[in-house]
Amino acid sequence: MKVPPSHSQEDMHKEVKSNYFDLPALDVSVAFPQATPASIFPPCASDYYQFDDLLSRKEQALRKKVRECMEKEVAPIMAKYWEKAEFPFEVVPKLGALRIAGGSIKGYGCPNLSITANAIATAEIASVDASCSTFILVHSSLGMLTIGLCGSEAQKQKYLPSLAELKTIACWALTEPDYGSDASAVRTTARKVDGGWILDGQKRWIGNSTFADILVIFARNTSTNQINGFIVKKNAPGLQATKIDNKIGLRMVQNGDILLKNVFVPDEDRLPGVNSFQDTSKVLAVSRVLVAWQPIGISMGVYDMCHRYLKERKQFGAPLAAFQINQQKLVRMLGNVQAMLLVGWRLCKLYENGKMTPGHASMGKSWISLKARETVSLGRELLGGNGILADFLVAKAFCDLEPIYTYEGTYDINTLVTGREITGIASFKPAALSKQSRL
Ligand SMILES: Cc1cc2nc3c(=O)[nH]c(=O)nc-3n(C[C@H](O)[C@H](O)[C@H](O)COP(=O)(O)OP(=O)(O)OC[C@H]3O[C@@H](n4cnc5c(N)ncnc54)[C@H](O)[C@@H]3O)c2cc1C
Repeated sequence: MKVPPSHSQEDMHKEVKSNYFDLPALDVSVAFPQATPASIFPPCASDYYQFDDLLSRKEQALRKKVRECMEKEVAPIMAKYWEKAEFPFEVVPKLGALRIAGGSIKGYGCPNLSITANAIATAEIASVDASCSTFILVHSSLGMLTIGLCGSEAQKQKYLPSLAELKTIACWALTEPDYGSDASAVRTTARKVDGGWILDGQKRWIGNSTFADILVIFARNTSTNQINGFIVKKNAPGLQATKIDNKIGLRMVQNGDILLKNVFVPDEDRLPGVNSFQDTSKVLAVSRVLVAWQPIGISMGVYDMCHRYLKERKQFGAPLAAFQINQQKLVRMLGNVQAMLLVGWRLCKLYENGKMTPGHASMGKSWISLKARETVSLGRELLGGNGILADFLVAKAFCDLEPIYTYEGTYDINTLVTGREITGIASFKPAALSKQSRL
């Protein structure tokens, strides 16, 4: 740029800044017209072995309904919310209308879905947006299911119907700053007083907690030393939930740090079915299967995106799909997706037939998330520079997978749960410290 002699350095800076740097970013479809961004979601190309044939008509219809809703309502807005790390409250009524919250719970306005149907819905949501699937999982398969399996009749009637419609939202708080993998070591206390309980302690990472109407909280009974469960209401005096900032994945999910200071919970809100840590295992068995379906869905969406992108984007006069190495990566991704679907499906059938063990669920979750990590990183490579942009899904999915690799038992912990089952030896605690594993 030519600078007139009268201009000082400062003037020049101002001029250049106002001319060039204050402009808003171009819309990605204008800046990069060659390939379609994920706001217009790609058609499904990942069902290569016709997994749909293994589903009942009802399950197929649910799959289609969820996918259509996600493509129409969430795909166009997800990159914006993800970038801002804000929760898209505007989609809650649309997800509510799908009638999937409450999953396998029968009655109380809940849909009584099979675990397979639940899993398919989870994958279809995750294929478009993993944050939305985590929001629903925490609300439905952890919060609602704990009330459904461990709550009193009065609690189920009082809380489940509006939770099933997503008119009220739940969260589920087990993890603490001091205890993540060793979740049974909960330090938050519940002290019996006249007419109720006093809760004191801290929870960390709790999804939906900054806006949830109902918080299912686990605390150690100071008389029995056992873990009990409580329904704590939003705005309870002494309860505080603050958002965890600066996450690289699941950015739309509002994870919170919870502080409980002298929080009074009436007797009627103690969950009568949680009398020890073992009582959470019925809930975790279901949620672990469903969490395993998130990486399946994420991988499906990433494959679909890459499949379209590689045919649209041209280099050296040919679409990227024409290059051998790119085709090989696509096929590796596709093979992974088929294997993940079959493992996930078998896990659902084992559960439905009452044959699933904790080791089965843990191996499913850990193996699937490992394969998904490989799949999304291949996808990230395939999109070149656009592989680091949320607008083309793959970068967002790549980051979203990381917390899923870690939550609901890290990859390592889940492999050790299966390791314990197949060897009969628990290896969670270093030999020098180990008396008895609490996991
Ligand atoms: C985005 C997100 C959402 C979450 N949502 C919820 C929620 O809604 N509710 C809730 O209660 N919790 C939630 N969590 C918590 C989650 O379940 C924990 O982060 C997880 O259990 C791991 O605990 P940690 O982060 O303390 O890791 P740590 O336990 O500190 O583990 C760190 C590393 O050490 C390894 N390790 C730990 N112990 C052992 C061992 N005995 N043997 C071998 N290796 C070991 C782990 O595998 C890991 O690699 C969420 C977490 C995230 C990131």
